Formats: sequence, structure tokens, C-alpha cells
Amino acid sequence: MTNNKNNVYNVIIIGGGPAGLTAALYTARANLFPLVIEGSKAGGQLMLTTEIENFPGFALGINGPELIDIIHKQAERFGAQFISEDVIKVDFSKRPFKVFTEENTYEARTVIVSTGASTKWLNLPSEQKLIGKGVSSCATCDAYFYKDKDVVVVGGGDSALEESLFLTKFANKVTIIHRRDELRASKIMQDRAKKNPKISFIWNTVVEEIKDVKAGRVSAVILKNLKTNKISEVKCDGIFVAIGHEPNTKLFKDILKLDQKGYIVTQQRSTYTNIKGVFACGDVQDHIYRQAITAAGTGCMAAIDAERFLESEEH
Ligand code: NAP
Repeated sequence: MTNNKNNVYNVIIIGGGPAGLTAALYTARANLFPLVIEGSKAGGQLMLTTEIENFPGFALGINGPELIDIIHKQAERFGAQFISEDVIKVDFSKRPFKVFTEENTYEARTVIVSTGASTKWLNLPSEQKLIGKGVSSCATCDAYFYKDKDVVVVGGGDSALEESLFLTKFANKVTIIHRRDELRASKIMQDRAKKNPKISFIWNTVVEEIKDVKAGRVSAVILKNLKTNKISEVKCDGIFVAIGHEPNTKLFKDILKLDQKGYIVTQQRSTYTNIKGVFACGDVQDHIYRQAITAAGTGCMAAIDAERFLESEEH
């Protein structure tokens, strides 16, 4: 099991976030010569993250893209191959498995799925029309445009607070709109946000509409208090939506077993899916922990599972 035979890869890894890259590192070190199909959004959600303070090994923190770059280079050093094409279809009905991109078809004896998760939107028509025109899901990418401006952030989890804290470096005022009167975020993030003089909260409230579609920019949000049904308007120049994520599993619908929320189901204490030879790791199969370090951990598990699976076939 030293090299890929007849253009059939031992392992194809779909997705290049911390899970996929860690799977690449481990399978490369096992001499499996993995192919990582990263897609155009290589790096996953870490590419949109500011300082990561809780990835072990970085006492002073590290930013997301830098961490991705390091693991990428580490996997490459041991022979992992990378291509930046978007997977459009898979055929897991028989082996070798087939993975299709616009440009090519790749074949593999095993596949590791690590396609991660994407931002959830409010799904208001006005929101969809104003994405990139004042509506954003990435403070790291867009905060700079809101120097001395007023912005709102929707959500009550760690993402919402992280985005808000980052926005305070630029914006004049950050208003967090949360649908309950209690935050879901970790205590340390709550303390930081509550202490920040630029941040204020509007509780028990949802965004009903974003103005002004006609003008092609954000000028205000229309809010509804869920306790009183009272409607109000808050003027703002931008809105950041940070209400969580959904798994990137469209490609695998009706192919791999998914749970009610659309996450890939893996067999207990392993990364085995319902198809022998197909493994899943990272946020695409985890709606509980969803951390870079747990994604990396399951990436390692997937690599070991794939390696042992291939070995068992050779005996
Ligand atoms: P999350 O923990 O699922 O929080 C989502 C928030 O959005 C919740 O407060 C939820 O309200 C609200 N929400 C969901 N759907 C909504 C809707 N349709 N309308 C209005 N509000 C809605 O997601 P997350 O904040 O993205 O965090 C995901 C994971 O990543 C967590 O485990 C988190 O700890 C981790 N994370 C960690 C860091 C860090 O450590 N620095 C940073 C970011 C994320 P309810 O509370 O009412 O459900």
C-alpha cells in the first residue's frame, strides 16, 4: 500500500478545513499519498476567524488563515496533494468511488468527507438582496468598512459575540439583537462583551426586515419584540448575521445517512459512515462540539480509520 495505483487514489479527502487537513497529514504520513480536493473556499470557517485563542500549541493565539496555512504545509511536506476544484457530484455506489468536479473525475479506494458547515442566514428577502451591500456574515472580512459607523449583530452565541468584539475595533456602536434574554455564548465571551462600552443588547427580539433594498444599502432594521410584539426601528449602516451554521451535505443527500439537521451520521466512536470506505470528520458530522481542535481530532480519526480499512482489505 505504498502508492496510488491505476490513477485510483488510496484516499480522496473532500474539504480543506482543520479536519480535512489533519486527515491529509495523517494519511500522508501513512504513505497513502492522499488527494485533497479543497474547493474554492479552501480552509473552511477558520478563514473567516480572527484570533484563535483556544487551539493548543499557540500560547499567544494565532489567526485562522495562518493556522490553516501551517497545517496545509505540514501535510504537503509528507506528500499530500492539493487541488482547488469544487466537487459537484459523487458516486459512492461502487468502488472505486468517483468524485466529480467541473473539470475532472477522480477515483479513490476510500473517501474522507470533511466539507464542514456554512453560515446560516435569517432568510429574509431583504437580507438576501443586501448581502455584500451592508449585510454580512463575516466581521473579519468586512468590519473595516464600518469605521465610526453603527452596526447590529444578530445572534447570542460565541460567534455573535466574537464578531461584535471585533467590530468594536472599527465601529462607533455595536447593537446585539438576540431572540432570548439569555446568551448562549461562553462565560468569558459574555463578560468581555458586557464590559465593552461600545456594545449594547436588545433582548427577546428578532429582525423582521432590513432597510433599504431600494437604495441598495443598509439604513435600518425593523425589529419585533417577541414578548410584547412591539415593532421598532433601529438605524444602522450594517448588519452582521451570526446565528450559527448548517452542514455542507447537499452533495451527499440520499447517498450518505444524514440526521434530521442534515449532518452526516457516523458510527459511534468512529468516523465510519453507512457506506464502507467512506468516512466523515469535522463539522459536517458534528453539531455538538464544532471547534477547530475537535475537527482536527476527528480528521485524525478518519485518517486512521481509512488506513486500517485499506490494510484490512489487503489481508
Ligand atoms: P450557536 O452556538 O449555535 O449560536 C447561535 C445563536 O444564534 C444562538 O444564540 C441562537 O439563539 C441564535 N439563532 C439561531 N437561529 C436563529 C434565528 N433564525 N434567528 C435569530 N437567532 C437565531 O452558533 P455559533 O455562535 O456560531 O457557535 C457555534 C460553535 O462554535 C459553538 O460551539 C461555539 O462555542 C463555537 N465558537 C467558539 C468561538 C470561540 O471560542 N472563540 C467563536 C465562535 C464559535 P438561541 O440561543 O435562542 O438558540
